[in-house]
Amino acid sequence: MPASNDGVMVILSSPSGAGKTTLVNLISEKENFKISISHTTRQPRVNEIPDKDYFFVNDDEFKRLIKNQEFLEYAKVFNNYYGTTRTPVIEKLSKGQNVLFDIDWQGADQIKNKNLDYKLITFFILPPSKKILFQRLSNRDMKDKLIVEERMKQFERDVLHWINYDYVVINDNLQDCYRRIQSLINAEINNGSKDYDLEYIRKHVEKLTT
Ligand code: 5GP
Repeated sequence: MPASNDGVMVILSSPSGAGKTTLVNLISEKENFKISISHTTRQPRVNEIPDKDYFFVNDDEFKRLIKNQEFLEYAKVFNNYYGTTRTPVIEKLSKGQNVLFDIDWQGADQIKNKNLDYKLITFFILPPSKKILFQRLSNRDMKDKLIVEERMKQFERDVLHWINYDYVVINDNLQDCYRRIQSLINAEINNGSKDYDLEYIRKHVEKLTT
């Protein structure tokens, strides 16, 4: 059983282009949340700050961390390795800080299966439509048509994992989406009533996958 003064873990996952990173930043600004900084073997993007956005490491260092069993979870995503080290997460939770994870479905599954002694709330963020996802991906740093097509194909596979999350939230409008997540987190922490329509989500997923 989690102790009442322990922090909670909140995972946000989504297919690429659903706006998850912006949501993670919004939540961490306004709530008592610390973002878990992942390790990755991918190259930094121009706007990224090492040790803030990610700990950028090479393959050998990543393998060393695996061997030393330092990861709470790790996975290969788009040909690179990503992982969350255990110690900083547990330190924060035991100090009463909430921890926010921006990780994919593989990592979310692994953390769920660990059944840690901390409350865990998982969210899967979806785009309002495939058309809007396509537009968002095309407007991003990835002007390359092939990359956009690859991400659209990946979307078809990733979306199937919605079923393993506590809540699925549609990012039609950033502020609305943020407020829905915030209210669900508050309801979970305070055992309040939850405004959540699973049937609506099921129909939305059906639309996205047909
Ligand atoms: P990006 O390279 O665009 O920053 O991230 C690619 C994907 O990797 C995103 O879906 C992101 O959520 C996921 N990711 C980032 N860090 C981790 C991590 O530590 N573990 C796992 N499993 N996925 C991660």
